[in-house]
Amino acid sequence: MTPEKIVENHKKYVLQSWSKQGNLNPIPVAKADGIYFYDFDGNRYTDMSSQLVNLNLGYGNKAIGDAIKEQVDKFCFVGPSYATEAKSTLAEMIINLLPDSFGKVFFTNAGADANENAVKIARMFTGRNKVFSRYRSYHGSSFGAGNLTGEPRRYPLEPGIPGFVKFFDPYVYREAINFESEEEATKFYLTKLREQIIYEGPDSVAAIVMETITGSNGVIIPPKGYLPGVRKICDEFGILMICDEVMAGWCRTGKMFAFQNFDVVPDIVTFAKGVTCGYVPLGGVAVSKKVAEYFDDHLLSCGLTYSGHPLACAAGVACVNYYGEAHILDNVAKSGKVLGEILEEMKAKHPCVGDVRYIGLFSAIELVKDKKTKEPLVPYGKDEKGIMGTLVGMLKKKKFMTYSHENMLFVNPPLIITEEQIKEEMEKMDEVLTYVDSELI
Ligand code: PLP
Repeated sequence: MTPEKIVENHKKYVLQSWSKQGNLNPIPVAKADGIYFYDFDGNRYTDMSSQLVNLNLGYGNKAIGDAIKEQVDKFCFVGPSYATEAKSTLAEMIINLLPDSFGKVFFTNAGADANENAVKIARMFTGRNKVFSRYRSYHGSSFGAGNLTGEPRRYPLEPGIPGFVKFFDPYVYREAINFESEEEATKFYLTKLREQIIYEGPDSVAAIVMETITGSNGVIIPPKGYLPGVRKICDEFGILMICDEVMAGWCRTGKMFAFQNFDVVPDIVTFAKGVTCGYVPLGGVAVSKKVAEYFDDHLLSCGLTYSGHPLACAAGVACVNYYGEAHILDNVAKSGKVLGEILEEMKAKHPCVGDVRYIGLFSAIELVKDKKTKEPLVPYGKDEKGIMGTLVGMLKKKKFMTYSHENMLFVNPPLIITEEQIKEEMEKMDEVLTYVDSELI
């Protein structure tokens, strides 16, 4: 197929996610390697978002490819009730990476169904029906996960499923109150959360579901003591704490799982994306021993044809091994430090940069019209002139590939990126921010 025909067919026959279909302009991808992908004219694009923050180990990882091929040669599929080496190995590896309190894994196809099944498991275990999740959150777009999601991507699913209750994230930068310390902010958010739970009836709340670090809504890093405080509230009322690590997990934040940055142990962890880096789709729900044991004599009423798909689990085993063998966390520490320094310089230099938030290789640049008033560069939910799309387009022209959300640009490169590559790419970002300073504010 010619590249022109590939694009033509895409536009004619494919319904593309999260897009108006009339004006699509997809890049036909010919090949990819490391942190780069190429079109058919040989143009090289730098992936500064790890695709959808899932391609943590970059393109063309031979170990993962070989593991998939080896599994293809053995067998491609058997159903969930059969034991396979790939599934048994991966489940053990994941449980060994988690705190001692963790017991078992239920495998899913991706992140949304991991969260849906986590909610089902929490409801069955507690016998309660309500679930708390946050406004500035994305947990997937299928019906159940979409109801957990707090931001506007949930709107097409409304009116929502009863029992899905929303509370606010600790988004200190945009809070109307000026907190004197992180601890003060934590106290405020926890007090409100506890109060809300009491008003909802604690005995009806099965779980609190949180992205450990809110990802696509702006890399919102919880203030000191926040997550242990949520843990305490969960313990007080017998509520399960579910950390959605679909985006933040798998070394992205400088730890294997993001919650390990915060001195807290959840009851359930959901994961996807970086477990296989997209080489084959896979997700899962890791549960504590206590939750796992409950299902020794209660029916686990969850099922997916492809739960524990052999090819996906083989990819997962290779990926998880690679994180360790290639010392990916060391690279995240090194390259993440450089990224953080550059982001701080950008915040100091550019009037349009209101805030930068970063941890490991997970970061967002929040754009404002005015640093003092914090007026966002585009109003919430109303970027009618498509300004953020224009900025992403300008970066794309420079072959810096990433995405935006509301007034934020994201820099979440593959975790194999070098310090030099970060410096080289962030010069392109600097040029675009200079344009925003001079033309848009
Ligand atoms: N949870 C979080 C935090 C995510 O960022 C995403 C996707 O971006 C999901 C869940 C949904 O995952 P999937 O698209 O694999 O269903």
